[in-house]
Amino acid sequence: MRLKDRVALVTGASSGIGEAIAARFAAEGAHVCVNYRPGSPPDEAAAKRAVEGFGTRGIAVEADVSRREDVERMVAETVAAFGRIDIAVNNAGIEIKRPFLEQTDEEWHRVLDVNLYGAMVVSQAAAREMVKQGTGGKLIFVSSVHEDIPFPGYTSYCASKGAIRMMMRNLAMELAPHRINVNDIAPGAIATPINRYVLEDPEAMKNAVSEIPWGRFGRPEEVAGVAVFLASDDAEYVTGSTYYVDGGLTQQVTLY
Ligand code: NDP
Repeated sequence: MRLKDRVALVTGASSGIGEAIAARFAAEGAHVCVNYRPGSPPDEAAAKRAVEGFGTRGIAVEADVSRREDVERMVAETVAAFGRIDIAVNNAGIEIKRPFLEQTDEEWHRVLDVNLYGAMVVSQAAAREMVKQGTGGKLIFVSSVHEDIPFPGYTSYCASKGAIRMMMRNLAMELAPHRINVNDIAPGAIATPINRYVLEDPEAMKNAVSEIPWGRFGRPEEVAGVAVFLASDDAEYVTGSTYYVDGGLTQQVTLY
């Protein structure tokens, strides 16, 4: 077990990649806070079901990552339940498709509030605890290949993920003296609810897959495996890096 008795918090963990990371962390011996978005009975039920399935201890905590008071309560509840926090995974994320010329302020702020501000405030609240504990820790961001490659129609999403990359690199430097490792995972196309519009459309799916050298979408568990590495002692000397989990997508250059 690579995370035995570590305490981890995973945001947006009631579905997709976050759910897979939380389950895999528990399988590796960690105690896990499974965060879910408020106001969604299915999310709440999924988070509670996930926790019941863990062989380790777990808690399901409702919190909107874009609200500081929610995030601080969530970190406090994690520490109250398990006595500490060692790992925080900033996974919660949303995307809104909108041509730039039609972009509204409201949509822009919503995407940036959840994806970027949320990741900042969770990292800050968790890192403050880690510094108090004095035994280091791990911050992991689930960014995207779109921290680097453009995605027309998704400017707010790309801006949020590009900013996460720079925040991650900055925090890696600022928090190194506290032995807090800070890294990004940049998934490519992973089969999760965020991509349901492609997964349910055979023609769109064929086009998407044709852009992926590995020839298929990734599975959430394949992202979780990299998260386990970054959360474990094996990543002791790894900080400030982006790990692509994209079946070669970012290497694909179509000339003709
Ligand atoms: P999902 O939509 O399944 O997961 C996102 C999770 O974040 C959901 O559980 C969602 O809840 C939750 N969430 C949204 N807003 C908030 C909030 N304000 N507070 C707390 N939780 C919130 O998609 P994925 O698993 O694919 O996405 C996980 C991460 O991976 C995201 O950051 C995404 O950008 C990133 N990613 C995904 C890729 C993919 O191809 N799947 C590719 C690259 C990056 P709810 O469903 O109720 O809104």
